[in-house]
Parts: sequence; structure tokens; C-alpha cells
Amino acid sequence: MTQPIACPKCAMDNTYPDGELLICADCGHEWPPAAAAAATETDSVRVVRDANGSALVDGDSVVLIKDLKVKGASSPLKMGTKIRNIRIVDGDHEIDCKTELGPMLLKAEFLKKV
Ligand SMILES: [Zn+2]
Repeated sequence: MTQPIACPKCAMDNTYPDGELLICADCGHEWPPAAAAAATETDSVRVVRDANGSALVDGDSVVLIKDLKVKGASSPLKMGTKIRNIRIVDGDHEIDCKTELGPMLLKAEFLKKV
């Protein structure tokens, strides 16, 4: 290995391999190299996919593929509801959008790109 690997925690490249792990001399963080590479990849190129596996990006329009119960609302968001101009965000619910019931965070798995 010729290239020093940057520590995923403190970003210093004062790191060295120790058996299966890489160790950062600066902050003492230890991590498996393969997992670190995968994590970095997911962070920089996060792909959120809809129910059909199509990649969703900011500004896409989607429809609901099932009724979704909404906390605090008397009626659910109906299947087939179209939502414009979604925004991809971090977290368990990846889609930030405005619906007829107000701003909401939805799971991409319940949406289909249109
Ligand atoms: Zn470190």
C-alpha cells in the first residue's frame, strides 16, 4: 500500500495497518479498511431508490404506491397522490416534500418516480 489512507474520523492520514484493521495515530480510531471505503462511497454518492429501483434525485416528481397514514392527520395520503419537487435528505425517511397535508418526510420505498 503506497497511498496513506485518511482516517474517516479525523481525516488525518497518519494511519497504519494492524492486522485486519487500520489505526489512526492521531485520534486512535480503528476501522476495517473495506468498510471505511464503502461508507465513504455511500456518503458522497447516496442513491435513493424508489419502489421500482429507479434512482431519485432532487426535483423529481413521484406518486405514492400505497396509502400512507400521517401522524396527526385525519385522513391518509392516498395511493396515487402526486408529489412534485422532492428533496433527498439523510435519514430513515429519505424524501422531503410538500404534500396536500403539508410538508412531510416519506420513505422512498413507498414512492414511484413519474
Ligand atoms: Zn483519526
